[in-house]
Amino acid sequence: MQDARRGMIDSIIIEEDMNLTNQEQTRASDIYGRLTFTGDVMLKRLPPEVFMTLEQTIHAGQPLDPAIANTVAGAMREWAVEHGCTHYCHWFQPLTGTTAEKHDAFLSPTGDGNAIEKFSGAELIEGEPDASSFPSGGIRDTYEARGYTAWDATSPAFILQTKDGVSTLCIPTAFVSWTGEALDKKTPLLRSNQVVVEQAMRLLRFFGNETGVKQITTTLGCEQEYFLVDKWQVEERLDLSICGRTLVGAPAPKGHQLDDHYFGAIPERVLAFMSSVEHRLFELGIPVKTRHNEVAPGQFEIAPTFESTNVAADHQMILMHVLREEASKHNFVCLMHEKPFAGVNGSGKHNNWSLSTDTGVNLLDPRQETHSNFQFLAFLCSVMRAIDLHSDLLRATIAGAGNDHRLGANEAPPAIMSIYLGEMLTDILDQLESGKTSSTKRGGTMDLGATTLPQLPRHSSDRNRTSPFAFTGNKFEFRAVGSSQSVAWPNTVLNTIIAESIDWMVRELEKKAGKNPTAAKRDAAARAVLKSVVKNHRRVCFDGDGYSQEWVEEAARRGLPNLHSTADALPTLKTKKALDLFKKYGVLSNRELKARYEILIEQYNTVLMIEANTLLSILRTEVLPAAIQAQAQVAEAVSATHSVGAECTGTEESLKAVINGINELQSSIKDVDTARGKTYASPEKELKGRRNDLVPAMERARMASDQLEQIIPRDLWTLPTYAEMLLLR
Ligand code: ADP
Ligand code: MG
Repeated sequence: MQDARRGMIDSIIIEEDMNLTNQEQTRASDIYGRLTFTGDVMLKRLPPEVFMTLEQTIHAGQPLDPAIANTVAGAMREWAVEHGCTHYCHWFQPLTGTTAEKHDAFLSPTGDGNAIEKFSGAELIEGEPDASSFPSGGIRDTYEARGYTAWDATSPAFILQTKDGVSTLCIPTAFVSWTGEALDKKTPLLRSNQVVVEQAMRLLRFFGNETGVKQITTTLGCEQEYFLVDKWQVEERLDLSICGRTLVGAPAPKGHQLDDHYFGAIPERVLAFMSSVEHRLFELGIPVKTRHNEVAPGQFEIAPTFESTNVAADHQMILMHVLREEASKHNFVCLMHEKPFAGVNGSGKHNNWSLSTDTGVNLLDPRQETHSNFQFLAFLCSVMRAIDLHSDLLRATIAGAGNDHRLGANEAPPAIMSIYLGEMLTDILDQLESGKTSSTKRGGTMDLGATTLPQLPRHSSDRNRTSPFAFTGNKFEFRAVGSSQSVAWPNTVLNTIIAESIDWMVRELEKKAGKNPTAAKRDAAARAVLKSVVKNHRRVCFDGDGYSQEWVEEAARRGLPNLHSTADALPTLKTKKALDLFKKYGVLSNRELKARYEILIEQYNTVLMIEANTLLSILRTEVLPAAIQAQAQVAEAVSATHSVGAECTGTEESLKAVINGINELQSSIKDVDTARGKTYASPEKELKGRRNDLVPAMERARMASDQLEQIIPRDLWTLPTYAEMLLLR
């Protein structure tokens, strides 16, 4: 039956492939941003003075002028209706970790039996969705319903089109409660951006090198890893359908031992999918650039070019949405869970972060004479200090049930947060620490030994893929973010801790250098402050193998936290240190941060319960019946053999193996059921309890099931196997 279905699906795919014309793919520049209200579209449709005012808000961070709202709304509506939209929505990111939208029609009845198309400035600026059904972490009681969405003009409005031709104008918004407290991920991200760029500007002014800089922005580029699995296979697996990961499944005979998938030729069917994803993302103004096979079979990556952090974070959410939708059109399911398959590489989302000026200078670019570039070194050391002081907080921002399967496993960054700097910068840290800086190591060139090949310039430092937080030449790459996570929260934390460090750095520098310092005084102050930062905080830097046991031991000696699981990491969010930090910089009030802590705990507990329910259902209704049937078959063979007076010790052994397997399965099912049924005095206690009781019980049950899978006839086994899902495409 499966073969027949596969054949059918393949023929559908071939038809779809042919529908993708080449012209479509080459008209990229016409397509780019077609469905976003930005750039040329705005220029064409808005009166010049309104356009200029709006641009001031978008690019120069000026307050939004409400007087322009009516004009902008009118132009947006016209543009959206021309593109087939009947409705608009305020699009926001509640604390569920996904996006939310409430659609309203442009059509308004006039009371005389007619209707007009209407979209006012007030409707653009403010929406009022019912906040009571979104998690608020105690900020709101269930009967307190009022919430507001507020237009974020800095992130372009866009049109989402479904495959059935329904188009909706989506307006990125912040979401707050009636009390003004943030109930979403965007509001604190925007606040944190503002704080870090303000502090960065102070540091820049101290050095006085960059003249003409009016604005600094944080930049973000995210690399998204994902798996593709055939849709029919997911439909036949309750675990993948409900939890996004396999809760049982024996390893395939071949994994990624041969490293033959990474950067391998992309299968045609997958390429067709990628191509339509890119087409749609281009229309939405999302600058996707890179695509390739990832390490694991069935695993791939997509990466847009970096943008300002707020826009990149919104685009990341849209990108995940488009990946899911297009996968479905191509009869795939796109799995963005951190660990869909046990024993196979998990998926992350590399979060590339930097600071840039409006004059085009990347403040984390070391440039040529790095050893004397104190401005760069001050930014670099601020980041180092921030990560050392708050590595627990950084770890907590990427905590979650999914990432627990990935961090610290032998193929993902460890749960110990450390920084990779590379040879050139490590050498400069040594120089800073010694008090004298005299030279910058260079990469030079590589001669490849064949005269027809070019001489390649060599970077001054190598790469390290085991580091959770790596300096990659002109940006930091936070590699421990989970593939399903919104990047808004990790970047909120990153911005805030770095803002605090830069603030500290400027104060120290000013203390030492005094008012209006000479260049020599400035450099002397920088030397002294940087020396002390390196001395106190370089313990967080580690260039070796982050996967090794030696590093775990070494990190413990250095006193670096190793917060292994979500249960260990989340409590960081309610420490005085964290509460004070977010409050001081106005990013989150104590109540707002505590709310997030509570919601994250609740989410973890809920995910674990859903997984336990799903696992029990699969074990009881699929694995156990299959095993019992197998037992009956083998038992019948044994008794038939005995009835003719022959011996069959081998078959008896098989029977014993199946019986033992079933016994183990049944006893582990009981354990999962007992652990699931436990009640706890508080969600916090539940978090620890689920991790300590339920997780190991589920692991044991999984092992029992996986052992049975390896001895049960394939025709009795109802679940698509790892080999079928990952290898046989
Ligand atoms: P790699 O990490 O493999 O070196 P790239 O250099 O292509 O790959 O960058 C990966 C991601 O980092 C991309 O999304 C890219 O746009 C982003 N990136 C590059 N420069 C910056 C920057 N200055 N700030 C933020 N992200 C950046
Ligand atoms: Mg990368």
